[in-house]
Amino acid sequence: MRNHDHLIKGEWVSSGNYQDNVNPSDTRDVIGAYSYGDAALVEAAVAAAKSAQAGWADATPQARHDLLEAVGRELAARKEEIGRLLAREEGKTLAEGIGETLRAAQVFKFFAGECLRQVGDLQASVRPGIDVEVTREPVGIVGLITPWNFPMAISAWKIAPALAFGNCVILKPADLTPGCAHILAQVLHEQGCPPGVFNLVMGRGATVGEAIVTHPDIAAISFTGSRTTGDHIAEVCGRMKKKVQLEMGGKNPMVVLDDADLSTAVSACLNGTYFSTGQRCTASSRLIVQAGIHDRFVEELIRQMQALTVGDALDAGTQIGPVVDARQLKSNLAYVDLARSEAAEVIGGERLELNKPGFYQAPALFLGTTNAMRINREEIFGPCGSVLKVDSFDAAVAMANDTEFGLAAGICTTSLYHARAFRRRAEAGMVMVNLPTAGVDYHVPFGGRKGSSFGAREQGRYAVEFYTVVKTSYVCAG
Ligand code: NDP
Repeated sequence: MRNHDHLIKGEWVSSGNYQDNVNPSDTRDVIGAYSYGDAALVEAAVAAAKSAQAGWADATPQARHDLLEAVGRELAARKEEIGRLLAREEGKTLAEGIGETLRAAQVFKFFAGECLRQVGDLQASVRPGIDVEVTREPVGIVGLITPWNFPMAISAWKIAPALAFGNCVILKPADLTPGCAHILAQVLHEQGCPPGVFNLVMGRGATVGEAIVTHPDIAAISFTGSRTTGDHIAEVCGRMKKKVQLEMGGKNPMVVLDDADLSTAVSACLNGTYFSTGQRCTASSRLIVQAGIHDRFVEELIRQMQALTVGDALDAGTQIGPVVDARQLKSNLAYVDLARSEAAEVIGGERLELNKPGFYQAPALFLGTTNAMRINREEIFGPCGSVLKVDSFDAAVAMANDTEFGLAAGICTTSLYHARAFRRRAEAGMVMVNLPTAGVDYHVPFGGRKGSSFGAREQGRYAVEFYTVVKTSYVCAG
């Protein structure tokens, strides 16, 4: 199938305007053509969701469980095929693509279980003869807007809880990665999702995304993406009194103390900074290293960074795939130039010409940097890391927190005292000790503080906060 259409009310709907979806490892490889929607199509999707909302809200927990369980099982069974599509479309390695598909399957299965663990409280009233019942109801129609960097996992961790708690969904995937969203839509459809309960509208953020955010019948928006788009969505939702959840960027610190195990620290930083081509909101971009270990750490990190194999995402030996597209590559290379002009010493970071047309970049390390430099304040979102030298643990913590973001923060240390103190003092939603800042579990909350996140946490049992509203009922026997 070359042409791929939107899913509305259980039907595949074309809006024409097909756009080629191109493999960033080899731009001669076209994955397929995907239709672009517009505001009229969002209107049709909202009408479909409205017609399905009451029925889905009343569906038994068993029916919701069975759908989510079946979707999870199907994704897991097809992990090689879907992981391959993910690697072709987004550029992460095949192993990462398969791992992400499996993660999406696990998320669906987790929320299948949550369908059967309905929450609520029955309490005695402070007045005689009255019972108080606190229940949770679906929010209604939710708009889910996703980025390109985890097209399976992020879509899954929004769709699965939305459906588990009885909401109907309109998903708008990133323009760069409609393929994974389309596969998810196919799987949901084939596994018996009732018409209108899940709708897929592909297209540009400025048209389809904007139409979803501003639609008065969409009760809540869950968004993952850049800070700029998130700020805009927050403003619109605030004005319209819509429930909103935002996961945005990071400038995540990884502290390496003198007492760290060198090999643990280098491996955590190598993984956190460069794997998935650095295109992770939890990537370690500021490596804050204490003076006593600094030279040994830098020498070993450079050695291992330069040994990484950059190549086609589907090649067996590839450790770092291409950058997602020409625009992101241009932006990354501009940050490498900026690092030089800010007087950092730059190791690597150049554009690589391989034997095929793709968006390849060598991993980059910036040395001798300060936290005031723009390269250490702005999110780069590519395979680039900075080293910042500090004298003490206290200076490291202060520098780690000196950022407008607060998603993840890590520390490598063998001191329980320092690990504990860092966990308590880090201004971040997630703290990792002797582990890369990127790489999280699916059954626990995900999210950040400050400029990284807004609204209720995603994932795990905490997802219920966003996808439900609380109702308090008072019942008198009469
Ligand atoms: P964008 O903010 O550009 O896009 C995210 C999504 O929003 C896309 O689907 C996009 O559509 C859509 N969008 C764009 N403009 C609007 C609008 N006006 N109204 C509604 N929707 C809109 O981010 P990217 O996709 O480029 O993703 C990269 C960024 O995402 C990075 O900065 C990264 O840090 C962040 N991110 C954060 C994560 C987190 O959990 N904190 C996780 C992953 C990424 P279109 O694609 O058509 O432009």
